[in-house]
Amino acid sequence: MRRDEIAAGLAEVDTRIAAACRAVGRDRGEVTLIAVTKTRPAEDVRILAELGVRDVGENRDQEAGPKAQELADLPLTWHFVGQLQTNKVRSVVAYADVIHSVDRLRLVEAISKEAVRQGRRVGCLIQVALDDDPGRGGARAADVLELADEVALAEGLWLGGVMAVAPLGEEPAKAFARLRDVATRLEEQHPRATMISAGMSEDLNEAIAYGATHVRVGTALLGRRKPFVR
Ligand SMILES: *Cc1c(COP(=O)(O)O)cnc(C)c1O
Repeated sequence: MRRDEIAAGLAEVDTRIAAACRAVGRDRGEVTLIAVTKTRPAEDVRILAELGVRDVGENRDQEAGPKAQELADLPLTWHFVGQLQTNKVRSVVAYADVIHSVDRLRLVEAISKEAVRQGRRVGCLIQVALDDDPGRGGARAADVLELADEVALAEGLWLGGVMAVAPLGEEPAKAFARLRDVATRLEEQHPRATMISAGMSEDLNEAIAYGATHVRVGTALLGRRKPFVR
């Protein structure tokens, strides 16, 4: 049964998170699991919620919007973790509690404007590019503080912290160490912005070792996604 599969995946991921915390002397309570449910049916999300998951992540508005609407009865926090175009902001702000991919001023302005219009308060994480590939999204480390200041000043937004995806072709631990440095500097300026969203199925250990407070896990929880074409 699907429920048993998901329960087994969740137990395994929980064990991995607990072990990773223990290995570096962190409290398990410092790390929140975000179940990344992209490409999965709403029914999987419902099962996760029954099993106690409260945070879910999605990366495409076309899919996330209808899913969030269908599951509006559940006590879930919705995290938008994908690259975000300004023309999708109106739709995303309607359901996203936290947007992890804030990486440019225009996006901050657009999210703020919509949050005010819709009477919502949206959490924003500054996505940090840990490599030099602009195609994968994220602000350059040098631009993060300025962007964070803009979020902190913008109406309708709260600044959560930072997010990153480990670059290809580099040891994740090294990249996450750089992310932690950026997070530390940001927290000096904005003491309440303590979130570090980092770590996926393959590299959650390394992320937790370098201070991740939120890991975003899909495959290890729900199995392999079918490859899909946009
Ligand atoms: C898909 C995705 C994840 C989850 O990746 P898995 O390898 O399936 O755990 C995490 N973060 C982002 C931004 C994603 O797009």
